[in-house]
Amino acid sequence: MISGTTEIVVIVGEPIRQVKSPQNFNHWFESRSQDTAMIAMDLASECAEAFTSVARGWRNLRGVVVTVPHKQAFAKLCDALTPRAEALGAANVVRRDADGTLTGDMVDGFGFLGAARAHGFSSPGRRALIIGAGGVGSAIAFALCEAGIAQLRLMDVNADRLKALSTMLQGHFPNVEIMSNCDSLATLDLVVNATPIGMATTSNSTSAADLPLPRSLLDTLPASALVADVVTSPDITPLLATAEAKGCRIQRGAEMAKAQLEFLGGFMGVMPAVDPEALLQAAAGSANS
Ligand code: NAD
Repeated sequence: MISGTTEIVVIVGEPIRQVKSPQNFNHWFESRSQDTAMIAMDLASECAEAFTSVARGWRNLRGVVVTVPHKQAFAKLCDALTPRAEALGAANVVRRDADGTLTGDMVDGFGFLGAARAHGFSSPGRRALIIGAGGVGSAIAFALCEAGIAQLRLMDVNADRLKALSTMLQGHFPNVEIMSNCDSLATLDLVVNATPIGMATTSNSTSAADLPLPRSLLDTLPASALVADVVTSPDITPLLATAEAKGCRIQRGAEMAKAQLEFLGGFMGVMPAVDPEALLQAAAGSANS
């Protein structure tokens, strides 16, 4: 039960009804009898600045999980950012230190890496395609580059976003081959849908509009690839159903969301600290095992 001694973490989004974090965090706190609670706030975009102002003086606030559409705005409103959040221009988690300082990080990519690792995927030497160069696609791309991917192909219908992400990644990771095209999936080890395509449909949909790639390209998908989706509803998207039918390993959006919990909680200081660098090293190490 929330009382006067309870420390608070907030998740902000607009809308907020769809988020699963409050259940996941509060279940974790309750199962450990920890006097911490997460509340969900449907925050109007025009009030984001006022919110961060209040957050600095909100003494029993430990941190904020930030979701759509506030990630870019919060990166600008924080007092400090990790180099990762700075490069991506987005924050999905904010820590409030005792002096009121707000520090932002972007851990979407680590949730993805953690889930992919559970499927036996390791980045070094591997080739991947990410469809979607928006908030989540950029974070996954950055994390895969940090983890030592050899080649990264990017696709997006928004040419400006695609170019901006390619240029940023090439600047930070000169050893990774960054390509903005893909005419075959045959040589790929990993295919990621980081667009909302496939959301609010059913896994057996046969509509081309529910797939992020044309069927002609999906016909070149090798059974050895891991195919991942960021979409959490439906659990099995039409892309994942197609990949499964081809014998591929699949990674659901919910797996990435679940794997993020420890990074979000650790960064805000309400769960044991986890070192993202350890995940990157483990991801690199398992390539040799
Ligand atoms: P965004 O709007 O920032 O990015 C989406 C990108 O996809 C845009 O750049 C858009 O141009 C591109 N796109 C759309 N249709 C396309 C197509 N047919 N082909 C190529 N590119 C296309 O959104 P976001 O914040 O990155 O979120 C994307 C999805 O990820 C949402 O559905 C969101 O719910 C989900 N998400 C999942 C998790 C998780 O943990 N699983 C976490 C955060 C977000």
